[in-house]
Amino acid sequence: MPDHEVAIVGAGPVGLLLACLLAQTGVDVGVYERRPDSDDRSRAIGIHPPGKGALDAAGLGTRVKEEALELEGGEVICGGRILAALSFARYQRVLVLPQRRTHALLIERLSHLPSATLFPDHEVRDVRNEGEQVRLALHTAGVSREVTAKFVVAADGVHSIIRKQLGIDWRPRPGSGSYAMVDAPHDQTGQRVQLHCEPAGLVEVFPLPEGQRRWVVADLQRTLGDRDAFVAAIRQRTGFRLELPLDRHPTMFRAQQHRASRLTAGRVVLLGDAAHETSPIGGQGMNLGWAAAHQLSAALEHAVRSGRAEFREYERHAERAAARAQQRSAFYMSMGRPAAGPTLAVRNAVIRLLGTAPLRARTANMITMKGT
Ligand SMILES: Cc1cc2nc3c(=O)[nH]c(=O)nc-3n(C[C@H](O)[C@H](O)[C@H](O)COP(=O)(O)OP(=O)(O)OC[C@H]3O[C@@H](n4cnc5c(N)ncnc54)[C@H](O)[C@@H]3O)c2cc1C
Repeated sequence: MPDHEVAIVGAGPVGLLLACLLAQTGVDVGVYERRPDSDDRSRAIGIHPPGKGALDAAGLGTRVKEEALELEGGEVICGGRILAALSFARYQRVLVLPQRRTHALLIERLSHLPSATLFPDHEVRDVRNEGEQVRLALHTAGVSREVTAKFVVAADGVHSIIRKQLGIDWRPRPGSGSYAMVDAPHDQTGQRVQLHCEPAGLVEVFPLPEGQRRWVVADLQRTLGDRDAFVAAIRQRTGFRLELPLDRHPTMFRAQQHRASRLTAGRVVLLGDAAHETSPIGGQGMNLGWAAAHQLSAALEHAVRSGRAEFREYERHAERAAARAQQRSAFYMSMGRPAAGPTLAVRNAVIRLLGTAPLRARTANMITMKGT
């Protein structure tokens, strides 16, 4: 008998959510995570309706909503003028909660589900399909050991070692850029986003819970990781004087997009960022992974009970959703690039058009990932 019905590699938000969904139905799940403790990096904040649906299914929707801030909409601005203003219908509203809190709530939820076990400080180094089971080679506290499972899900992120070992191609998709960001206190956070699509490049301002705001500045100069250069770029582009406390330092990230050439190999399935890397601009990666985890959990439960691996529907759906999300992100990034003259005029006209009455509802649907 294998050690687990399902082994999940990676306790990021997507692997943890899948573990909760499976364990709720009594499936025996082992989650193997190489980090010894939690991941405190500042990453996802936006939870779109498809992500909310997956959290509800995992019994976490109410807890997340209690802590999150609810976004009502936002404005796109250029040169001090509002190009487009959108308000979300109630069902479209986006929740805002820092990923470290979502992560903590997922861990807590998992700890109450008896058929799931989380193994921190367990790095998976090798994976082998062996017909009716899969073997994982692990390294923990200086010791190597092996575990087996009927099925394995690789939710081990963008640099997935499982994907590499299975020889699955990682194909670049259009859309990339350099950004710097910081989360900082602010006395009037509100419930709306401001996107400044300025000639010198994008500045995004998101309200966060507990009196904070996230500032994201696009492009180009390496010095944007520097506090003074970051504050100066915001001032120069938007006219806003950001008072950044001394303990807050902008971090840089490079947005890229990739998709795996296939999502299954034998009894191993790729999920989340291991399957598709989506630019953070647009805030879709975690939501995409959660929506896919929701669908995969049903297919896995069936596979565990029937012994037959049938993941084609999951694969089709996840690939289609990722392709759409990546197109949206590439579009958002193009709207935030530095621009001047006729290029800027055309771009502003496109943004204005998207905010007009006939298109406004469709634009809000696009931003909130309808159909994912
Ligand atoms: C700045 C920024 C802002 C973002 N904002 C948003 C947003 O607002 N909304 C949104 O939806 N998305 C957003 N994203 C994207 C989101 O953070 C990712 O899509 C999400 O974290 C992917 O989750 P995951 O569980 O698939 O992978 P990860 O979060 O990368 O988790 C993978 C886990 O696997 C573990 N692991 C890796 N290799 C091994 C191994 N060999 N053995 C064991 N464990 C292993 C890692 O330690 C990690 O814990 C943002 C990203 C960034 C960088």
